[in-house]
Amino acid sequence: MDGGYPAGGTDTAGASGPPARYDRPAMKIFPTQIETYLNCPRKYQYSRDPDLRRKYMKSSPHLVLGNAVHDALQAFFDLATTPLGERTYEKLCALLRDAWAGRGAFRRNAWKQKQAREEAFGEDREAEKAWGQKGLNILYRFFQTQDTSVVPLTAEQFHEMRLTEHVTLGGKIDRIDRLEDGRLVVIDYKTGKPPSERDRARIADEDLQLAAYALLVTRKFRGEVARCSYLYLNDELEVGYAPDERILARTEERLNEVCGRILSATESETFEPTPNPLCGWCDFLPICEAGSAYQREREAGSGEQVDLPF
Ligand code: SF4
Repeated sequence: MDGGYPAGGTDTAGASGPPARYDRPAMKIFPTQIETYLNCPRKYQYSRDPDLRRKYMKSSPHLVLGNAVHDALQAFFDLATTPLGERTYEKLCALLRDAWAGRGAFRRNAWKQKQAREEAFGEDREAEKAWGQKGLNILYRFFQTQDTSVVPLTAEQFHEMRLTEHVTLGGKIDRIDRLEDGRLVVIDYKTGKPPSERDRARIADEDLQLAAYALLVTRKFRGEVARCSYLYLNDELEVGYAPDERILARTEERLNEVCGRILSATESETFEPTPNPLCGWCDFLPICEAGSAYQREREAGSGEQVDLPF
């Protein structure tokens, strides 16, 4: 899960070739932003603009839940916050509540959390209670089904690598574990719905985010990634694969190719909209003519297609 680029220096582990030239702007990018570009270049452009982000990207119950669960799990696996002997379900619940409220170990987030909760729930305490309960249930299942004695190599940490002369690839990776034989395991928590059977089968071939994380970890830690997985917390379902050399090489090639396109688009300021079924959930729909027109057509069409059983 990527949250925003951290301040600080660039880890150039895995860098190759001469130092960056200054005739092209350097770019730092997350796998999730690359996915956004592939889905719709215009959405990518909007989402890189801090003013538009502030104005249009609002929190939601899903976001509050997802962030609090991620934060709670990070603190749970952080020995400085939760010593091994204190890893109980009650502790995990307390961490979720603290993360939700922006207090305790998460007090640095107090203002951000207050705003996120207001945007997501307004005055609706019952809705907030239901979503909070959902978070507790997710953690209950996690506690029941996962190995909670593991000491991750890193949890919810930023990692980055130089992808090309002009591009640094970064990502906040939920968890990296080291197996006894020294190989690494990359885990990305998901609080949403799992993919269909068909989409699961295509993850190793088509999903760029997980493959990018595997590449990043392989290069940064100079180690073999035994497995990279999405862990769907709500369904206790793990979907992943072993990223072999072929997959890593192809991922690097794909990332290079897409980042080259993004750099060219940035230079020419050409980000065409590509209206698609996700427009209805796009934060920028109110300012996107193409997306709005597509949405209107879709809604008009759907009225004709509804097959009522009465
Ligand atoms: S509304 Fe649709 S077309 Fe417009 S930016 Fe969003 S995803 Fe792209």
